[in-house]
Amino acid sequence: MLVDGFGRRHTSLRISVTDRCNLRCTYCMPAVTPKYQAKSLLLTYEEIIRFTRVAVDLGVDDVRVTGGEPLVRADLDHLIAMLAQVLDPSRISLTTNGVLLLQQLPRLTEAGLRSVNVSLDALDESSFEHSTRRRGLSMVLDSIHAAVDAGMKVKVNAIAKRDFTESQLAAFGHFANRTKLPVRFIEYMPLDADGNWDPANVLSGSEILRRLSEHFGPLRPLPRREGAPAVDYKIESGGGTIGIVASVTEPFCQACNRIRLTADGKIRNCLFGDDSGDVRSLLRSGANDQAIADLLKSAVAAKKRGHGSDDLVFVRPSRPMYSIGG
Ligand code: SAM
Ligand code: SF4
Repeated sequence: MLVDGFGRRHTSLRISVTDRCNLRCTYCMPAVTPKYQAKSLLLTYEEIIRFTRVAVDLGVDDVRVTGGEPLVRADLDHLIAMLAQVLDPSRISLTTNGVLLLQQLPRLTEAGLRSVNVSLDALDESSFEHSTRRRGLSMVLDSIHAAVDAGMKVKVNAIAKRDFTESQLAAFGHFANRTKLPVRFIEYMPLDADGNWDPANVLSGSEILRRLSEHFGPLRPLPRREGAPAVDYKIESGGGTIGIVASVTEPFCQACNRIRLTADGKIRNCLFGDDSGDVRSLLRSGANDQAIADLLKSAVAAKKRGHGSDDLVFVRPSRPMYSIGG
């Protein structure tokens, strides 16, 4: 089993399938297209599946496919179908910006996908463009509605960034009340490619809750699911659910059960810090499954107690979010 030195059991795997993206969110990517990894350096779907099988044998029972933008990788539905042979399809989910979701939805549902998190930072086009440096709000909204109609479990994730997200809170509250889709605000973390992050740019979860309750009245906390990074609240007046992922102001490292596989085949035992194992080298040098399992176990064993973004000793991660897989 994948247990680290602090007794945390690791059951959740995030798999990034690409570092490429069709948006340029200010808190993640640079404005100018970065030098992407050569495609030959990205794990093939077969390689991803081989690693996932090893991880599942070690107790992983939950997989999220991410990126970059996972839907820009060709034939993502093939990977979903292959994953659905390895673990329960209800434990497979996708994180996407939603731009390409509508057109790929039939193939993805056919492949077995049942759950999707759509990242959406704003509910008006000019704010959407301000945040993503691209247009496309209507495509994302159409995708969300189509995914709901197709019977998918849908959650919406929004960045919590000072001087931006404040203007979106009321609209998201109404959206949550109307659609009954959970909306989660994720505090801006120091993982932007431009290196502009500063603690003052984080809109804290507590401030979001205060502002929402000023607008909508009381928010009632819901029981926290084990290992879940979000704390969810019910808007009493409208019935919508708002979640807070306070990764900066209230880190939840003590409950972390996640490991990550980057698109170029590196293990990450934490979003922060550095790569913690080179799976691709093993896969491409004829190593057996035991060697992959040993690498994974040692990466988990080396996990630190916390991510340290609030410590003076914190060192900026070596890669921005789009190249790790959020
Ligand atoms: N492109 C897909 C998307 O946007 O959903 C998947 C990858 S993206 C890196 C995954 C999530 O990371 C998104 O919800 C995005 O908002 C979040 N994210 C990216 N950079 C972030 C940062 N610096 N702080 C907090 N969240 C960030
Ligand atoms: Fe692309 Fe997602 Fe990063 Fe936005 S957050 S730039 S959509 S990878």
